[in-house]
Amino acid sequence: MRTHAGKSHRYATSGEVCRWFATSHGCYDVHSAATRIAEGLLDATRQAEPPIELGSIARLRCVTKTVYKSDIKTLGTLQRVNDGFLILLQRDLHWFARREFWAHEIAHTFFYDIDARPPKRLLSTKGREEEFICELLAREILIPRTQLSDALRGEDPSLASLIGLSKRFKTTISTMANRVIGDLRSWATILILCEQREHLFPYSRVVRRPGRLLRVVRCIAPNTKEAFVPINKIVEKTPIIAEAFAQRRYVEGWVEFDKFGSLHGEKWVQTLPTASGSGVIALIHLGWTFPSPSTAKPRQATSDLLPIRAPGNASFFPQEPSRKLS
Ligand SMILES: [Zn+2]
Repeated sequence: MRTHAGKSHRYATSGEVCRWFATSHGCYDVHSAATRIAEGLLDATRQAEPPIELGSIARLRCVTKTVYKSDIKTLGTLQRVNDGFLILLQRDLHWFARREFWAHEIAHTFFYDIDARPPKRLLSTKGREEEFICELLAREILIPRTQLSDALRGEDPSLASLIGLSKRFKTTISTMANRVIGDLRSWATILILCEQREHLFPYSRVVRRPGRLLRVVRCIAPNTKEAFVPINKIVEKTPIIAEAFAQRRYVEGWVEFDKFGSLHGEKWVQTLPTASGSGVIALIHLGWTFPSPSTAKPRQATSDLLPIRAPGNASFFPQEPSRKLS
């Protein structure tokens, strides 16, 4: 089970559970193991094109039933039953997000002996490392490496491309950004989600820089020091971002950054209001390239912009800390 209070995942890739997971799948590291497992599942269910259909993968992993419910306290839960597993998923989610929680719960089945009846737990402990592995494996299943590489061919980095890819693979924009920017490092960009909030940590006693202001609440970046935007950065007066928020429309242009995290100098920025209306997403291009005009202007953001997933390099859940994912 994971609460919405993630920390950096750096600890996770070298931990005991990750080593166990990698070696038990014949790999040296957890990333290779996740890729190998996902490829095996896709081969076995004969899936070579997005979107990935999860029902057949669930059946392969002995999930006998998947139920959508509104009255569960979690976003997703895996339960052992006599003949396999039951997965409960929160009904009140955009269905792209629900697919991600479904994949995450399927990933948890790899911590059980599924030939036993009922399935038998392989580890005596549960914890962050397992959650990290399940997040990683869920992304590998939903957005397979080779399929994404094919889809990225000929695509300029842009918000329009990111939204198009997320629609094609039926995932949230944030998970697609995690994959393209974080996992594969295919784009030299940073995606930030900015929201107007009183303060960043609604449940914290320590209130830093209070006031109803437009703030950075999530940052999805390549996992390097050179590409870093701090959470809670106030962007009320940042050109392009503030304009997109005030005018509720897509805006793109050059922004001169000064001590904006690790960003300095002029960067090309594309930004779009979120579907909820409470914020904007902004794609910051780290190099001097910018997308060609034909792909530059997405007309709308869809409701799959829910900021509910852990970004690969900066796991962070400032909202709804009481909701849990099992
Ligand atoms: Zn979990």
